[in-house]
Amino acid sequence: MSADAPAVVCPVCRVEADAESLQCPECAEDLAALAHLAYAGRMHYNTALEHARNGEWEAARDAVGAALAHEPGLAPAVALRDALVTEGRTG
Ligand SMILES: [Zn+2]
Repeated sequence: MSADAPAVVCPVCRVEADAESLQCPECAEDLAALAHLAYAGRMHYNTALEHARNGEWEAARDAVGAALAHEPGLAPAVALRDALVTEGRTG
């Protein structure tokens, strides 16, 4: 399990999902949908980075906003958002 990955916890058993199968080790509930939610912030952040590389500041700002809506504490997304506030404003 990656230390960077957000934990996915079974809503019934309150135990962490198995990182490989994305199932609850206790009740075998399929937690893949929850895992996707947990990673949604990172996926939007990666999209934002891609847009920023291409100079698409509006799209980058939208994506980083979505990232922070899903995961407000995502530090690299906060940093990217702050950078985007000034970037492209003159252009
Ligand atoms: Zn469970």
